[in-house]
Amino acid sequence: MKLLEFLLDLLFPPRCPVCGQIVPIGKKCADCVGALELLELNLEEIYKANAERNLEYVDSAVSVYRYDSAAKELVHRYKFDDRRILVNEMADRMASLAREVYEGAELDGVLCVPAFEEENDHGKRLAEAVAARMGLPFLAQSFVKTRRTEKQHELGAAERATNLSGAFSVPDPAMVAGKRLLICDDVITSGSTLNECAKTLKEAGAAYVFAVSFAATGRAQDLEEEKVRDNI
Ligand SMILES: [Zn+2]
Repeated sequence: MKLLEFLLDLLFPPRCPVCGQIVPIGKKCADCVGALELLELNLEEIYKANAERNLEYVDSAVSVYRYDSAAKELVHRYKFDDRRILVNEMADRMASLAREVYEGAELDGVLCVPAFEEENDHGKRLAEAVAARMGLPFLAQSFVKTRRTEKQHELGAAERATNLSGAFSVPDPAMVAGKRLLICDDVITSGSTLNECAKTLKEAGAAYVFAVSFAATGRAQDLEEEKVRDNI
């Protein structure tokens, strides 16, 4: 297997999935690793940003990187260019942060923010990969989206809340009752989607709802900016 990988690398030199430059075999792109390091969030920054979000039903939410430059590029490539290889990169970092922060929380399972019917399955693949790394069950069937919603970033704050209201559902409350759950998402912006998910899960009896995301916008003004610039 190793030999095959070696030969494949010679034929198709590995390229950085973020910036596209050729990287030495078995190495990561130094430019992108360096750029990502600069965006790493510490817990103080995370909690400060969370204080400006409505996360009433979320027990705790942490994010690996500030949603900017290389982190933003990586999320966009993952979502829009469909670079599936990036799921491993993102899930590695998310699982390691979640293990560190939620050690002792005795998590029972991992969930994603559910998508409606033919909407993309990026979130599902990411959460599944995080669950596998943490050795936790991925409880995809226990949490679903029941209707299509408008894109959150296209709406004002008040509309954001009603847009999502009742959009998620727990088909069998026994699956989540009394459980300590971890929701995975790629980016946290205003937090309203995450909060609606946590509300639904808690109303169905979940004991705790924690969250981990790959990236998060930094401050209130970033949230405004997101609405205009991005398609989240
Ligand atoms: Zn790179």
